[in-house]
Amino acid sequence: MLDINKIREDFPILKRKVNDRPLVYLDNAATSQTPKQVIEAIVDYYENYNANIHRGVHTLSQEATDKYEQARIKIQKHFNAAKPYEIIFTSGTTHSINLVANGFAALLEDGDEIIVSAMEHHSNIVPWQMLCERTGTILKVIPMNMEGDLMMEEYEKMLSNKTKVVFCNHVSNALGTINPIDEIIKKAHGVGAAVLIDGAQAASHIVADMQALDVDFYTCSAHKICGPTGVGMLYGKEEWLNKLPPYQGGGEMIAEVTFEKTSYADLPHKFEAGTPNICGSIAFGAALDYMHQIGFKNIAEYEADLLAYATSELLKIEGLKIYGTAQRKTSVISFNIEGVHPYDIGTILDKLGIAVRTGHHCAQPIMDFYKIPGTVRASFSFYNTMAEVDTLVEGVQRARNMLL
Ligand code: PMP
Repeated sequence: MLDINKIREDFPILKRKVNDRPLVYLDNAATSQTPKQVIEAIVDYYENYNANIHRGVHTLSQEATDKYEQARIKIQKHFNAAKPYEIIFTSGTTHSINLVANGFAALLEDGDEIIVSAMEHHSNIVPWQMLCERTGTILKVIPMNMEGDLMMEEYEKMLSNKTKVVFCNHVSNALGTINPIDEIIKKAHGVGAAVLIDGAQAASHIVADMQALDVDFYTCSAHKICGPTGVGMLYGKEEWLNKLPPYQGGGEMIAEVTFEKTSYADLPHKFEAGTPNICGSIAFGAALDYMHQIGFKNIAEYEADLLAYATSELLKIEGLKIYGTAQRKTSVISFNIEGVHPYDIGTILDKLGIAVRTGHHCAQPIMDFYKIPGTVRASFSFYNTMAEVDTLVEGVQRARNMLL
């Protein structure tokens, strides 16, 4: 059992007021809040050992390098990657996906095929479309059904020896659906295709095991798991990271530079050009420590209760429809009220101190599928309370009464 009141003490921001009301933060799928343990790690870095890494012989540089590499090992352990150098620090999921798509542009040819799911975030669509423009590769889309589940039989029909890469999110940010990534990976490997799983939305709810999944690439952003913005990771199997060319050129990523020829550094440095987000990477490690101390199993159980309660209470509101009713989902509720624009609901909720997201959630194809302009999305985290769910439900009811 989680002691939610005690946990909430760790998050200074949860004490603040918005529009004279206690903040009810339900936009966790966009970014999570930061506990003081992570804030302290950031302050500690800048107060005590701020220095560039891998370059200096001096003490501060060595301390910063050690902490940065320790963070990599924490991430490696968390995701059960076989080697620490299979973890590449990036600025986040978007950067991670662009790095991989850019690398495949050098490996794919005209007529090759790649497969995406219908419920992706734009960051797992656009980099691949850019690749297609450069290479003549063909993009195919796994359709979804009204419940917000992928149509796996259609996926199977799409696979062939022309398929080179399959990319799909672990959890949909717009609907909360947990996708059957085990099956997606196995089937893709059956035709020799590589698989990238976008774990941005899954990471705060599910611990993904890289070796058990046998996935080729997996991404996440620290800011969705109690860490800071501007940092994330790319997991890549060693053999794939060796095959892909570097994404950016610069300092740190080279073995030797002359004007005639440059050779590249070994993993992970080959993909970490320039001064990385040193402090952010260390804080990413601190965020994982914090989440493990709470316990991912406890988090998943509690969030399932929040989701079940919020779903049943919201559905009592007349005209409210929830999008994405998949059996396996995380604590995201995307909804609309008949005859009301989602933006208007979001604006009224904000006046009541309730933070939700409205719009297409960077997943426009999903909105097109449902033929709606967007949804209101409430997304829950382990520091939310059942009382906050009640406040949300009252707020939505009030918005409905005002707007209809
Ligand atoms: N994929 C999914 C499923 C996401 O939810 C997000 C963030 N909303 C991203 C990718 C992009 O992450 P970032 O903006 O941190 O790069």
